[in-house]
Amino acid sequence: MIIAKTIDEARKVIWQWKAEGLTIGLCPTMGYLHEGHISLMEASKKENDKTVASLFVNPMQFGPTEDLAKYPRDFERDRAMMEACGVDMVFAPEASEMYAEDFCTFVDMTIVSETLCGKSRPVMFRGVCTVLTKLINIVYPNRMYMGKKDAQQLAVVRRMVRDLNFNIEVVGCPTIREEDGLAKSSRNSYLAPEERKAAHILSQALRLAQDAIAAGQRNSASIIALIKTKILSEPLAEIDYVEAVDGLSMQHVETLSDGDLVPIAVKIGTTRLIDNFTVGDPPIEVK
Ligand code: AMP
Repeated sequence: MIIAKTIDEARKVIWQWKAEGLTIGLCPTMGYLHEGHISLMEASKKENDKTVASLFVNPMQFGPTEDLAKYPRDFERDRAMMEACGVDMVFAPEASEMYAEDFCTFVDMTIVSETLCGKSRPVMFRGVCTVLTKLINIVYPNRMYMGKKDAQQLAVVRRMVRDLNFNIEVVGCPTIREEDGLAKSSRNSYLAPEERKAAHILSQALRLAQDAIAAGQRNSASIIALIKTKILSEPLAEIDYVEAVDGLSMQHVETLSDGDLVPIAVKIGTTRLIDNFTVGDPPIEVK
C-alpha cells in the first residue's frame, strides 16, 4: 500500500495509473476508521481497478467551538485496517499541504446545505465542498464513495457534482451499525459507558418512526413528534433537530413519500450524533 503525504507524491502515482487506463475509486475519510469506512473501501475495490482512501481531518469544516483538536486520530491503526482491506493508496496530507497560508478560494452552496446540520454547523459544508473539490482535483477518481449515514453531506456532494459538472459518479453506501443499532461513528469513541447505552435511543426512535410509516402514517408532524417523544424519554439525550425533508433538496415536507429523508441530530452529553432513514429503506435492525 502506497502512503502519499504530499500532493506531488499522490499525483505521480495517479498519473501512472491513468496512463495505464485504470479506473480509480476515492473514499474520503477523516480517519479513526471503523467498519463503516471500510465498507466504502470494499465497495470501491469491487468497482474500480485502484482504490484511494484519503485520511484528513479537515480544519475548514470545524467551527471555532467544535471538536477539531480532540477529534480522535490513530494513523497506525488506520494504516493497518486499510492495508488489510487492500486499499492501493492512502493520501494523508498535513493541513499545511492542503491549505497554503494565503488560501482564499472556497466552494460554497446555498439551499441544500442550509438546513439541518448546515444550520447547527454553519461552516461545515463549505469546508466539505472545498476539501472534496481539492481531493477530486488531486486524485481524479472515476467514482467517489460516501456513506448514507451522513445523508445531507451526500445530498450536498451530489448537488455540487451535478452543478459544477465534476466528471465522477458519487456512490452512496448503506449505514453500518453496531449490534444494538447505533450507527458506527468515529465520534462514538467520545461516549462514556452510560452515554453509550443512552445513544441506543437514536436508532430506537428511528425504528419506531419506520414502523409507524410502514403502518400507513405519512404525516411528517406526527412522525417528528413520535421521534421527539421517544428521544426525550432518555434523560441524557438533548435534541438538536428531528426533521422530515425531501431527499434531494433537504427542504421540509409536510407529507412523507418514498425517497424522503428523516434525519436526526441528538446530543448525548457533549457528543453530537446523527442518524437517519430514507422512506422506503428496509427497517433498521434494533436490539
Ligand atoms: P468521516 O471520517 O466521519 O468523515 O466519514 C468518512 C466517510 O465514511 C463519509 O462518507 C461517511 O458518510 C462514511 N461513514 C461514516 N460512518 C459510516 C457508517 N456507519 N456507515 C457507512 N458509512 C459511514
